[in-house]
Parts: sequence; C-alpha cells; structure tokens
Amino acid sequence: MRVTAPHLAHLWVGLKGTLEELGVESVPPPPTSRRTLSLGVKYSPEGLCLPFKLTLGNFIEALEAGADTLLMAAGTGTCRLGRYHLLQKQILQDLGYKFKMIPLGVSEKKFLGLLHIFKFITGGASWAKIIPAVLLGLKKYSVIDDIEREVNRVRAVEREKGAASRILRQAITAIAEAKRPHSLREIRKYYLEKLAQVPRNPNIQPLKVMVMGEFYVVLEPFSNLDVEIELGKLGCEVHRNLYLSDWTKFSFFLNPLGMNEKQRVHRAALPYLKRDVGGDGWESVGEKVLHAQDYDGLIHLAPFTCMPEIIAENIMPTTKEDVPVLTLICDEQMGKPGMLTRLEAFVDLIRRRRKAREKAAI
Ligand code: SF4
Repeated sequence: MRVTAPHLAHLWVGLKGTLEELGVESVPPPPTSRRTLSLGVKYSPEGLCLPFKLTLGNFIEALEAGADTLLMAAGTGTCRLGRYHLLQKQILQDLGYKFKMIPLGVSEKKFLGLLHIFKFITGGASWAKIIPAVLLGLKKYSVIDDIEREVNRVRAVEREKGAASRILRQAITAIAEAKRPHSLREIRKYYLEKLAQVPRNPNIQPLKVMVMGEFYVVLEPFSNLDVEIELGKLGCEVHRNLYLSDWTKFSFFLNPLGMNEKQRVHRAALPYLKRDVGGDGWESVGEKVLHAQDYDGLIHLAPFTCMPEIIAENIMPTTKEDVPVLTLICDEQMGKPGMLTRLEAFVDLIRRRRKAREKAAI
C-alpha cells in the first residue's frame, strides 16, 4: 500500500511517522499550491466549500505521485464533511484513478477506531507494534504545536521578520525525521531555546488576537493565505483556538476528567445558540463569548458556503460580550492584497481601541 491523506496543517508529519514505523509507504501530497487549488476547483461541484476542493486537489496530486490508498475524514455529524469521501471517491474514479478510499470516522470510534484502521492498512500487524507507532505520530503533533504556539508569540516582536517562521520550518523537518519519543523531547527543547534567542524589538507592544472559526481553514495555512504570519508582521500575538494535538485528544480519547475545553465553549454559547449547527459554528459563538475579555480582537475564518459559520457570523454581533471580530470568507476568489487591506484596517482599529481603553482606565 502507498498511503496518503490530504494536507491539514502538519498532519502529514505524524501520519508519515506512524506509517513508516509500521513499514508502510507514506506518500504525502506535494505541498498545497495554486495548482492544487485549480485541480480541486476544476473537478468539484461549484457550491462546495474550500476544504472539499483543496482536499480533492491534494488527492489528485498524491495519486499522480503514486499513492493508491486514500485516508479521508468521515462521520455522522451535521456537517457535509462526513459525506465528502463518497463524492470524492466518485469524482476520482470518474477521472480514471485506481485506488482504495478509507473513511476515518474517528470522532465516533475514537482511539480504538484509529488503531483498527492501522491494523487493516498493515494487513494485521500486532497491537504491540501498532500502539507505539500511533502514539509516536500523536506525540509529533504535540511537539509541533508547542513550538508553533511559541512561534506565534515571537513573530509579533521579532526584529528580523521571518526568523521565527524559519525556525519552525527547521523544527518540522527535524520532527518528521525523529524516530523515538526521547528525540522528540530533545527537539522540542532545542527549538524552544532557539526561539527564546530570537532578537526582539522592545518597542512593540503586541496586540492579542485569536484566530478561530472553521476547523480546516483555521488549521491549513494555504487556505487562509497565512493569516497568522501576516498578523505577526502587523505586531499581533496570535492565539489559535485549536491545534491538531488538541483535536486528536478530543477526537481520539474519552475525557475521564469531566468537562473539557470544548464543553466549556459550548456552555458559553448556550445563551445565544442552544445546539450544534454542524461544523464549528457552535464553537465559534462560544469562543467569542468565553474569550471576549482575553483578546484585543478575533479573526473569524469561514469558508464560503459553510452554513455553520454563516450562522455563527450572524449571531456574533448580537452577543453582549464585546470584542471586535473580523470575519474573513475563504474561497478560491480570495486574494492576498484584499485580505491584507482588511487585516491592516482591523489591526489599526483594535490598536486605537486598546489605547482608548488604557486612557480611560487612568
Ligand atoms: S464545516 Fe463548513 S467548510 Fe467545513 S467542511 Fe463543513 S461545510 Fe465545509
């Protein structure tokens, strides 16, 4: 088997690590590019969301590179995503590709479901082999996320723009190559120290901004035109409401300690939205309510035609918890100059708002 999965942040790093430990060939798609987007747009129904189009483009490029087994998210939730693997399978078969599609219903089947998928892929490897390999992959996500959280803090104040991003790229390469958990611990320590040494501009008072919204466009930098990097250049310390490692914890493991962060967010949204509306719409409302006091502003990322985020976008202006929100609609028409203009105007607004509040507090 030559296994692939669509790009989603650094998903390929952990997946590749697990597959290689199990002796299975991993074929990550080439990095998502304009070509990926063009292929996805060309072969997708027009009204579908950007995650569908980009993941379809990833699959086409991975098949061209020799992949023959495709892993794709699936499930029974209210979002269309749960059915995307069926439609993508049909489209790819109509294009003449030969492959096997494996749907991943991880939210329902949790960690055990994930283990069984690797059991199937390896043709029945022992649990003693599968479990450490899967845990190694998951550990890689935790290390990447710890480093990325710090990168987002440093970007706002670094003297040389791009220094933190360069360290992140080096760290990803080292993490992808790591074969043992103890080397991951060393990599984490080494790159966090490197980030601590990045020269900073002491005159910058970073603004605190949260990036939140639909899961895919929040995590996948190509789909949001590197919004975190651009905010960093504007002097914003970015906090993201979700990371791949957090998501794997929520999705793969039961939570024996009671309420987790996701439940807290749902509870916060209740006065304005009483039920799950699919995707991450409920969470988007809850994030605003829960964190209005913690941030100078929120960037709400929503794919065009995404019903859950349209609901959230319409509710957010009516909450009594007050914090400026900029909704960015992500689709194939989105251009960098337009996005930058909106980001600059938004950052200007929240900077003035902070100054006014500081003045009023004196
Ligand atoms: S949540 Fe919205 S954008 Fe994401 S997959 Fe579902 S419909 Fe598409």
